[in-house]
Amino acid sequence: MIYIGCHLSVTDGYEAMGKTMTVFGGNTFAWFTRNPRGGKSKPIIKEDVEALLEYVSSKGFGPLVAHGSYTMNLCSSNGETRKNGCEMLKKDLEIMEMVPGNLYNFHPGSHTGQGTETGIGEIADALNSAMNKDMSTTVLLETMAGKGSEVGGTFEELKEILDRLEYKDKAGVCLDTCHIWDAGYDIVDDLDGVLQRFDKVIGLSKLKAVHFNDSKNERGSHKDRHEKLGKGFIGMKAMKRIVMHPALQNLPFILETPNEDEGYIEEIKTVNKWFKNKSRL
Ligand code: FE
Ligand code: FE
Ligand code: ZN
Repeated sequence: MIYIGCHLSVTDGYEAMGKTMTVFGGNTFAWFTRNPRGGKSKPIIKEDVEALLEYVSSKGFGPLVAHGSYTMNLCSSNGETRKNGCEMLKKDLEIMEMVPGNLYNFHPGSHTGQGTETGIGEIADALNSAMNKDMSTTVLLETMAGKGSEVGGTFEELKEILDRLEYKDKAGVCLDTCHIWDAGYDIVDDLDGVLQRFDKVIGLSKLKAVHFNDSKNERGSHKDRHEKLGKGFIGMKAMKRIVMHPALQNLPFILETPNEDEGYIEEIKTVNKWFKNKSRL
């Protein structure tokens, strides 16, 4: 089995997200620690978060996957942008300790002309100054499509960042299916080969979450445009093979497909049906 869910809005609070996900038929979810385009994080009400924690444990939810802001760039050539990013990261990790033991996923960054090596160094430095030995959160670097000057478009780049971290046991990877497809990894015709590659370069034990998206573009396009399950170039057959793959079991799968609520409910139903039919065999 896997845990399945989608992104939810934190507008109505934390406990509400858990309850909404049950209505959606899922058992994990993602949310933005702050406005995805930047801005302040909403003040957190302790009782609300505690109610969520109690709720998700009573319902057997999998790990929850918070998402850092898109504007957070830990390796921008603009010093101000980078400094803001580092502050956001620190604050976000503090917030995450109110929801202890979960996952915090973010886009490693775009080097904006400094070069990949400099970018990797700055991302690792930022993480090393924001992480600490007592934190209960696992920080996840997201696999990227390699759009523009994005760092993290190859498994090797992510591995290089992970290798430079002081608290290695508190870091891992979130695999975005649309992104790795757009980056050039052939998860349609060679899923086993791609996962073996991941295992060889990073280690499958470091894989802690999956962003489960189809892609609007061809493999290697470096575009990063998500599509609904089965409606894109990855296609339903390959999406099913991914979610059922033995190496990916027990992970939280987060839908980031372009859907309204109804669409997410349908996609969650589809995935749950695949597992139900499997257990009947
Ligand atoms: Fe993302
Ligand atoms: Fe993603
Ligand atoms: Zn994306």
